[in-house]
Amino acid sequence: MDLAPDLDLGAVLKARKRAAGRQGVVTALAEALPRRLAERVAEEAGATGTLADQPDARLAALGEAVNRWRVKPVGSEGYRTAEVTLGGVATDELNQKTLEARRRPGLFVIGEAVDITGWLGGYNFQWAWSSGWAAGQAC
Ligand SMILES: Cc1cc2nc3c(=O)[nH]c(=O)nc-3n(C[C@H](O)[C@H](O)[C@H](O)COP(=O)(O)OP(=O)(O)OC[C@H]3O[C@@H](n4cnc5c(N)ncnc54)[C@H](O)[C@@H]3O)c2cc1C
Repeated sequence: MDLAPDLDLGAVLKARKRAAGRQGVVTALAEALPRRLAERVAEEAGATGTLADQPDARLAALGEAVNRWRVKPVGSEGYRTAEVTLGGVATDELNQKTLEARRRPGLFVIGEAVDITGWLGGYNFQWAWSSGWAAGQAC
């Protein structure tokens, strides 16, 4: 993610170092970012003190951290907070109009039991209701 899309922050910080080296590194970052975020970015990069205290490589790293912020998920909360599940009966095993199983006439599969997953926001409910209605019409 680019947290300062209008700025090449590494270049800005290096230019600022030459023009106003006594400016605090956090203060300089806070011109582009909310202050608490600026503090955190500086802390992560081990940048304290003034711009003049920072080697150019560290200013480039600060710019990189802001213009190319990377988020690496470390896991999920598991089924405790899950709202929809992937997987289920493959759609090509079902009649697309009636939801009847091709291999087991008389067996209908609907809703979460089918390998269909919608965005959150009502699509899964709609699928559950609509597939149930379609199967109900055909039973
Ligand atoms: C916390 C949460 C929030 C959600 N929010 C949204 C949302 O905002 N919008 C949206 O679109 N979707 C949402 N969903 C997903 C949506 O609820 C499901 O996709 C939908 O309810 C699936 O309907 P279903 O009838 O296929 O299955 P279910 O609603 O799971 O119904 C299956 C039923 O079968 C019963 N059952 C299970 N085993 C047996 C058995 N052996 N004998 C008899 N009965 C059995 C269960 O008790 C259950 O009542 C949410 C889900 C969760 C968990």
